[in-house]
Amino acid sequence: MADWWAEPIDSGPLPEDGGRYDIIVVGGGPGGSGAAMYASMAGHRVLLLEKSVFPRQKSCGDAVGGSALMHVQAFGCKDEIEATPCYQVTDMIFSSANGVEVSIPLPADRIADRTAGMVIPRLQFDYVLFKRAAELVRKNGGAVIQDFPVSEVHMVGEGDKQRIIGVSGTVGGPRSGNEVMTFTAPLTIGAGGYNCPVSRVVTEAHGEPMRDDDHYIAAYREYWEMDCAETGPIELHFIGGDLGGGYFWIFPVRGPAGADQGVCNVGIGLVQRELKLNKTKLRALQAQVIAEHPKFKERFKSAKMVEGSGIGHMIPCGSPRKDPPSYQPRRIAMAGAGCVGDAATLVNAFSGEGIDPAFVSAKTLIEHFDRDEHADGFPSEAAHDYQTELWKNIGPVMTNSYKMQKLVKKRRLMNWFMGKASRDDKRGEMIRNQLELAVSSKSAQEDVATPWQLIKLMLF
Ligand SMILES: Cc1cc2nc3c(=O)[nH]c(=O)nc-3n(C[C@H](O)[C@H](O)[C@H](O)COP(=O)(O)OP(=O)(O)OC[C@H]3O[C@@H](n4cnc5c(N)ncnc54)[C@H](O)[C@@H]3O)c2cc1C
Repeated sequence: MADWWAEPIDSGPLPEDGGRYDIIVVGGGPGGSGAAMYASMAGHRVLLLEKSVFPRQKSCGDAVGGSALMHVQAFGCKDEIEATPCYQVTDMIFSSANGVEVSIPLPADRIADRTAGMVIPRLQFDYVLFKRAAELVRKNGGAVIQDFPVSEVHMVGEGDKQRIIGVSGTVGGPRSGNEVMTFTAPLTIGAGGYNCPVSRVVTEAHGEPMRDDDHYIAAYREYWEMDCAETGPIELHFIGGDLGGGYFWIFPVRGPAGADQGVCNVGIGLVQRELKLNKTKLRALQAQVIAEHPKFKERFKSAKMVEGSGIGHMIPCGSPRKDPPSYQPRRIAMAGAGCVGDAATLVNAFSGEGIDPAFVSAKTLIEHFDRDEHADGFPSEAAHDYQTELWKNIGPVMTNSYKMQKLVKKRRLMNWFMGKASRDDKRGEMIRNQLELAVSSKSAQEDVATPWQLIKLMLF
């Protein structure tokens, strides 16, 4: 029997051109599907627009952390996701350039109830999320269109009074010969990833940069058939060399389940600015690490890359900008519109985790929308409140993770840090906690060490 997640998703009849909704969502990845689900669950009529047709590939490490799984539970599709082949995570392994490894076990109760974290191909994960979003949206009187790249974002007003009012696009894309369709709503949500047309308009309208190569990571992944168990650790290696502040990961996605070998997601990421400076190509760098690095070359001897599985993508990080023109990490909302997930540049700079921040931002934005009060348009005050509250919640962890990202660039400091973290004493435990915080998306501000606390932890 064919995999059920390879079947087309019924997104329902094409809605009428010119329709008005409470909320338009541009993009159906985790951020957009999440926003559409939170909005529908709050009773809003949603139009969900996605340029691809599901199932579709997405370049990712495929790791879904415990906090993200809480959202999946709220959407009511965790069981369905787990009914597809996936890998339950029990530990996280980190290593530094000198080979010192630190293993951080995840909480036993979370492992037992399968909420500690999992690795699951995005092909499956995004499929189930979008399918559930389509169900909830349609049940609530909304509409869904796949194969609909949004090509234009409409704005009215001048200067401070500018407001986004809706979008246009064409089924099958601009060259399909199909009619352009236009839709309006008081709130348009930009969830189209790092290149989202809504984020472009939001930043341009305020004369602010959309992209910042110091805070974007270029990343690349492949699938490999290789040795791995049914459950166990995921590995993040800060190996230095040409990778500088970048990392190399091995995340099993599926145990052998009767076959000789399981399948692992193997990938590499490096800050875009450094990639440009080094004139490095990620695919070549990954091939070199696999073939030559003393820590990995033996492990990959009997491994086989899954043909055609190599794809790369940009990771827009939520690290604080040095001199932000307005909001941190950059402007992500204005009258009539708010962006979520990668469209709002919210990925954890240390771990590369972006699915949970996509859900958190989607939930926060929906909480700031009031259908009755905002019937004439999501006001700029609500956009301000959304941006401020989101950063208040995720800013401490994003800032901590950025500090850790900078630390791993300093090879000797990283080696020393990991040496301390690997020790079986109180200080080692505290540093491991900070390491766990930097890769998790916990928003508990009180748990995040200040720079001074971190230095004290390491020195004394
Ligand atoms: C190599 C790599 C490894 C990563 N590893 C991890 C990891 O292990 N764990 C983790 O949590 N995160 C990881 N991330 C980050 C994670 O992939 C993103 O943060 C996450 O996908 C963000 O979700 P999103 O919905 O905001 O954007 P996306 O997943 O990019 O979804 C955007 C959607 O919008 C659609 N779209 C784009 N333009 C338009 C348009 N004009 N009109 C209509 N639709 C449009 C796209 O087709 C897409 O479906 C990784 C990223 C990369 C590149």
